[in-house]
Amino acid sequence: MRILVIEDERKVASFIKRGLEEERYIVETAADGEAGLDLALNNHFDAIVLDVMLPKLDGYSVLGALRDNGKATPVLMLTARGTMEDRVQGLDLGADDYLAKPFHFEELAARLRSILRRSSTEKTTKLQCGDLTLDMVTHFAYRDEKEIELTTKEYALLEYLMRHKNRILSRSMIMQHVWKHNFDPESNIIDVYIKRLRSKVERPGHPSVIQSIRGVGYRIREGGALDTDEGDEEA
Ligand code: CA
Repeated sequence: MRILVIEDERKVASFIKRGLEEERYIVETAADGEAGLDLALNNHFDAIVLDVMLPKLDGYSVLGALRDNGKATPVLMLTARGTMEDRVQGLDLGADDYLAKPFHFEELAARLRSILRRSSTEKTTKLQCGDLTLDMVTHFAYRDEKEIELTTKEYALLEYLMRHKNRILSRSMIMQHVWKHNFDPESNIIDVYIKRLRSKVERPGHPSVIQSIRGVGYRIREGGALDTDEGDEEA
């Protein structure tokens, strides 16, 4: 999942980014309110970590502008000011939760998981597709009860495919949800990662779960790819 961190203190921003990357999120950062709002309005993020005290545009204004523009992306606000009025103002503007600085990373990660769960139709911590399971807490995949270790990008890609199983996902949709916003759309990076993912999750003698749809994109399919008329091209 893609997370935007809007925080001007470089040390705090990189601390959050590093931690979230270890938790297998794809993380982008913005160092002021204007840049953050621009990124948030023009890209897909699954959640935003938003500091209150920011240069150019403060966190409340960013949040207000997001909601005014119809963006419902879950927001976790970071506030150094612990007064009741500040917390209430954030929640009234449509923040999903807040966290007072200083905080422990574990608490930020837990609150983020919680707002992501609330915004998701899936309330579970595991995704299932046939005999393939993805554990969203440990970040391991399992097939035939064998543990499969995934890199951050492989995990993000598999999670996106599995959340939308049986649906054809175009390369540009995958790009928007799994890669950073400034990625070259002409690149063949998605195909490269799909190939890596297949080498980890596909099993000889079993139907393939990740299907290529020629000229369009990919689909992960329950029960595997049985008909081949859509073309199961191999990279
Ligand atoms: Ca700040």
